[in-house]
Amino acid sequence: MNGDGLTVRDLRVTFDGFTAVDGVDLDILPGDLRFLIGPNGAGKTTVVDAVTGLVKATGSVRFGGEEMLGRPVHRIARNGIGRTFQTATVFEELTVLQNLDIAAGAGRSALTMLRRRRDVPEPVVRALETTGLTGLRDRPAGVLAHGQKQWLEIGMLLVQDVRLLLLDEPVAGMSHDEREATGELLRRIGEDRTVVVIEHDMDFMRSFARSVTVLHAGKVLKQGTVAEVQADARVQEVYLGR
Ligand code: ADP
Repeated sequence: MNGDGLTVRDLRVTFDGFTAVDGVDLDILPGDLRFLIGPNGAGKTTVVDAVTGLVKATGSVRFGGEEMLGRPVHRIARNGIGRTFQTATVFEELTVLQNLDIAAGAGRSALTMLRRRRDVPEPVVRALETTGLTGLRDRPAGVLAHGQKQWLEIGMLLVQDVRLLLLDEPVAGMSHDEREATGELLRRIGEDRTVVVIEHDMDFMRSFARSVTVLHAGKVLKQGTVAEVQADARVQEVYLGR
């Protein structure tokens, strides 16, 4: 499996006449670990919402060579695009394993899932290992630490064979150690998938981004490596130099 690339052209989203995303182009190569940064209100979440079909947009969003724009959310998800939100949405009363099992079974019939209940499917075993949650598999998700819940949510995407992950501030509220562990997790995931991370934490971006897009007022202000972005005077002005 190799990650697929994401090509966005002239993406536009308006809310009641207000243009939140104003002609955004993105070229995210297969296997990239792209950070999407920019001040509050720059349009980062709206870009991700448009790519995943949550808001209406114009332009073009091609993934794996196919046009995603205009498709319903579930069809886009079925094409291998998955996302997390700032607040992890896991089933708190179910165990880690059950959460992953349900995610893996999405789209499978209840009967198939019942039949399979005794053996842990291979993708679930791999997701437990990748996210470092193997030792916690039988704990209810509700007792997990904040960081562990985020990792579980990422694991729930991995078992669905997601090839493009869009993560909304995955390290918000995490401890230093959790941030480091999350960065390493993103690196592992990115070995054979494409990952896009909305982020506010500049230290985290510097440590783990392979490439960066800076959004400002709905437009791409700068795209490049961490060093290129940091050296850009306009970026410093609107964002980094605050
Ligand atoms: P960011 O994620 O970079 O902080 P957002 O994508 O959340 O920015 O928002 C971009 C702009 O669009 C903001 O000005 C925000 O107020 C506006 N916006 C976002 N969602 C909606 C909505 N559903 N209705 C109206 N305005 C919205």
